[in-house]
Amino acid sequence: MSDTAQPLETAVVGGGVAGLYCAWRLSQQADPSPGAIAVFEHTNRSGGRLWSEALDQEQAIPAELGGMFFSDAQDLVYRLCDQVLGLNHQAVTPANDFAWVRGKRFMIQDFDQPGVLPYRLREDEQGLAEHELSMLCIRRIVPDIDQYWPLNPNATMSDTVRFLRSSSFDGRPLHDWGFWNLMARVISNEARICLEDLEGTYAMYSNWNGLEAVFSLLCDLTGRWFRLPEGYQQLPDLLREQARAAGVRIHLQSELLAVSAPDHDGYRTLTFGGDRPSIKARRVVLALPTGALQMLDIDASDAFLSAIDACTRVPACKLFMVFDQAWWEQLPDGPGSIEVGHFAASHTDLPMRQCYYLGTDPGTGRALLLGAFGDGRSVSFWPALLDHKQKRAVGVRPIPAVMRDELIRQLSEIHDYPVPAPTDAVFVDWTQPPFWAGWHSWKPGIKSWQAAACLRGSEQDPGLHVCGEAYSAWQGWVEGALTSAEMLLTDQLGLAQPDWLADSECLAPYQPSHVAN
Ligand SMILES: Cc1cc2nc3c(=O)[nH]c(=O)nc-3n(C[C@H](O)[C@H](O)[C@H](O)COP(=O)(O)OP(=O)(O)OC[C@H]3O[C@@H](n4cnc5c(N)ncnc54)[C@H](O)[C@@H]3O)c2cc1C
Repeated sequence: MSDTAQPLETAVVGGGVAGLYCAWRLSQQADPSPGAIAVFEHTNRSGGRLWSEALDQEQAIPAELGGMFFSDAQDLVYRLCDQVLGLNHQAVTPANDFAWVRGKRFMIQDFDQPGVLPYRLREDEQGLAEHELSMLCIRRIVPDIDQYWPLNPNATMSDTVRFLRSSSFDGRPLHDWGFWNLMARVISNEARICLEDLEGTYAMYSNWNGLEAVFSLLCDLTGRWFRLPEGYQQLPDLLREQARAAGVRIHLQSELLAVSAPDHDGYRTLTFGGDRPSIKARRVVLALPTGALQMLDIDASDAFLSAIDACTRVPACKLFMVFDQAWWEQLPDGPGSIEVGHFAASHTDLPMRQCYYLGTDPGTGRALLLGAFGDGRSVSFWPALLDHKQKRAVGVRPIPAVMRDELIRQLSEIHDYPVPAPTDAVFVDWTQPPFWAGWHSWKPGIKSWQAAACLRGSEQDPGLHVCGEAYSAWQGWVEGALTSAEMLLTDQLGLAQPDWLADSECLAPYQPSHVAN
């Protein structure tokens, strides 16, 4: 423990991808004298919400308990993996999705066909593909949106950001609206429920910040999808190892409890739980989600403390199963055999919400299924099936028989097939501490670019900085965690923007100056 007794130049708290990216960038550019930078992580592993587990020793495909995919439209994460770290990545294409909603099964590709959808859509909402229905909603909220990125390939993301910040609906700025409030004005309730059911997310269509919701749907329109075949956790693992090699100390099982005001030399004191001694640091980077920040005793301005509450915590859970063989390959209406580089998913209004067929180990024939992937209100269904002593755990393995049987019951219903028992299963509930949420959403009424700037750092709170997915422009994505960290590094900590990002617009949504006149 004595190695942390010396005052630090920079203490990074949170060993998720945002914190490790900060430590890695600082170690590459700043003076990495031994002991200048340290990372403090609460749990006994780094990576946070990137957590890749081999459920079976011979299982070729890791179970991605947290983040799974990234896109080449997500400039920072894509370039970091592709150009900078040279991580082996594989394009993935969704194939052959089907849905089971309101007791009816159909292929998603038939969404626009007459009589297929079990929803009473208005006449002008019928005959559209799924993404066209959500675009109908966006175009009615912001009618000029086709002139802007990404719909207009000649426009820039900065123009879109300026446009959305100056846009109003019915005389109120977009950011003041809740997205559900907006949808209620422009599409039928049946159309909203249809999108909610079939896109697999309750959170996206809930009442979060109207401006951020529109921006998020626009971002989803572009890019090709990728995964790291050896697991997304490879990214934070490599950042950690390179930072460590450059002199950064990584301390696991170090739960931060409090951050003091700066002393007369400008150093803040960090107090930890357990037997870790407190330390002093000139700069404190809190790369933490909202719930973790809310638990801390931080001596900071009222503006800083109230900006922490600008986000809502979105529940999320996953339940993976391993089977002796890929039973879904035999089904007449099923996804068939999943080739490398593809995945298929099914969508339902049952509590399991989505399942992803992730393929078969060529050696053993064992197959991996993400059997339930839920967010928002679907999440509370599952933890109630845990044994009492398992209820505070993030990951549970093995799962109780009652939970296993319930998922098998739902899988059998949606596939109309008696799904066999799995050989293994794991349940992950991201609403548990120290994560408190799967991801986050800006509340209606918040100007995200102002709240994020306040938390990033200000004269009122010298040496105190927040970054990470929660306070980002791409909430729910690694891209959000990384861009918010990069913005902090260049805006507050004096680092030059790296060459490999020179022509990227990925920091545009953070610029407080991007406000139309
Ligand atoms: C189910 C699920 C699916 C997802 N799917 C995708 C996807 O497909 N693609 C994608 O890009 N993103 C996805 N995401 C989002 C992505 O995983 C996150 O955006 C990203 O990993 C967040 O990184 P972070 O560093 O901001 O936060 P975190 O990873 O949460 O890191 C914060 C760290 O702080 C630690 N901590 C908390 N409290 C304290 C304390 N008091 N003291 C010290 N340490 C503390 C935590 O243990 C944690 O390690 C998904 C997330 C979930 C949950």
